Amino acid sequence: MGRGAEDGGWPTDCAQCFGLCCVALAHQPAAGFPAVKASDTVCCHLNDDFRCSVFERLEAEGFPICRAYDCYGAGPVVSDRLRAEWGPWTPPMVAGAAGHLLGFRELARLRMLIVALRREGSPEAVELAARLDPVADAFRRTGRVEIDAETAQFMRWHEPLISAILAPLKEQTKPREGP
Ligand code: SF4
Repeated sequence: MGRGAEDGGWPTDCAQCFGLCCVALAHQPAAGFPAVKASDTVCCHLNDDFRCSVFERLEAEGFPICRAYDCYGAGPVVSDRLRAEWGPWTPPMVAGAAGHLLGFRELARLRMLIVALRREGSPEAVELAARLDPVADAFRRTGRVEIDAETAQFMRWHEPLISAILAPLKEQTKPREGP
């Protein structure tokens, strides 16, 4: 089962993305990526049409982490918002890629968590959802996920609840089809 609007998430569709994760993310050789890659750098395997030149053989080439990465639909959302001004990657766009992708990925997780908390329906879950609503609203104004200390502490207290709610959402994801 895929993620739908009813889950608060966005569908992950690599065909609608400019390969943001292939630019934004940092990698180390030990973590399923055979080279050092700094964040905000274009991977050497990303073609000018934003497709990966080795996606069909990622495991054989030593890049298994790329297939498993889930942006929670943030990549297509960011790409869609910026589509009018984006063409091939240019240095200013590269410099902002990590901030765009990771910020919206956090927002996607937040949206799914809020919907799932309300669906769970316990008093703690409903209170947590109410505390997180303004965080999601603030993101739309500031572009940043900022959780105040009181809410962060509340989240730590209820970490088992949050983990239990997020686990089935994670199981709904599938390996991406590739940039
Ligand atoms: S999917 Fe391909 S282009 Fe993207 S980071 Fe991995 S190897 Fe590079």
